[in-house]
Amino acid sequence: MSLTLADDERYCFTVEWYEEMAARVRQFQFFYFVKAQSIEMYDIKNRKMFLRTSVKENNISPADLYLGNSINVCGRLLNIVDYGDDYTRRKLSAKKERTLGMIKPDAVDKLGQILDKICQKGFLISRLRMCRMNRNQALSFYQEHQSKPFLNALLDYVTSGPVVTFEIVGENAVGAWREAIGPTDPSAARKTAPTSIRAQYGQDVTFNAVHGSSDPGAAAREIEFFFPSSGPVPPNTARVGNCTCCIIKPSAVKAGMAGKIISAITEAGFQVGATQMFTLEKANAEEFLEVYKGVVHEYSAMVVELTSGPCLVLEICAPEGSPPVAPAFRELAGPTDPEIARHLRPRTLRALFGSDKIKNAIHCTDLPDDGQLEVEYFFRILDR
Ligand code: AMP
Repeated sequence: MSLTLADDERYCFTVEWYEEMAARVRQFQFFYFVKAQSIEMYDIKNRKMFLRTSVKENNISPADLYLGNSINVCGRLLNIVDYGDDYTRRKLSAKKERTLGMIKPDAVDKLGQILDKICQKGFLISRLRMCRMNRNQALSFYQEHQSKPFLNALLDYVTSGPVVTFEIVGENAVGAWREAIGPTDPSAARKTAPTSIRAQYGQDVTFNAVHGSSDPGAAAREIEFFFPSSGPVPPNTARVGNCTCCIIKPSAVKAGMAGKIISAITEAGFQVGATQMFTLEKANAEEFLEVYKGVVHEYSAMVVELTSGPCLVLEICAPEGSPPVAPAFRELAGPTDPEIARHLRPRTLRALFGSDKIKNAIHCTDLPDDGQLEVEYFFRILDR
């Protein structure tokens, strides 16, 4: 195998792939060659080269290479489970620090703007979930503040509505995210860090819009609280009433458009009832898109796009007493083909954010009756 290329800069990971046909998990050494812009996978059990492909063909960048991420290589969803060698561990572990961010209840209606700001500041969100904490959960999350005089006010606040929690991965993520959110008190932030998130979206020292872990130890505990590998989590907020489903597709998430798309959706008067980041297995994408199989010839390409990285799924709702939300949201989504949309309906989401028929920024439910079913598929079935 190409360990002969060892002089070249290359990263090595252990990845796992669930092979459907054989119903088994296979382990590989995964090599990413920076100069050659190529990828190789070496089958650990059978001790032989498994595949060689180009980085470009698979739309993978070094930013995607962190533990816990799932990447799609030649149609296979690979989970990155460990570093493959000391060199990679040494080079990347500091660059791939993790922290927990949270948008608190009073700022959740600014979700689009805040996500856009997070993206503009160059942070990578690897997991995200809108949920609602009860008092016990909030107390457990804020255990270090148990004896503080502001504890009750803090618990009232963070349980007063949904929060959006997310994991950020990147170099010095804990410190960089603390710096981006600014001082605890937004009025102090407005003086000393006017471009910080608390300066722009916080009201006062209690209602301060966002949270960031204080140190790497707290980050690990808080990430485990909201994104445990097993066990209960605060429930998602899907209402599954008058709703429809919108998926910000992996290519749009990767291009950093999620915040802008959400802002366009809320500015048009729709509400985000729930949102969560999912990385879909091929089988799930096929199941979800089954109605298009044999109907549109882009079906296979649609499956590939939907499994090509994390997507952001939204439950779109309308205020109480509104007409059915699905047809109205389809109007905002616009024609499937962004080229056509740009000619006929230039203010629609696909006209504004899509690039082609497959990478057309969003999926939205086609048939009004399917809105609830699609929302249920993600928020009642796939959400752990
Ligand atoms: P921290 O973990 O440092 O972000 O603190 C937790 C949260 O408690 C802060 O983000 C505020 O919402 C709240 N908090 C901190 N200090 C005070 C305070 N002096 N008065 C009221 N609330 C506070």
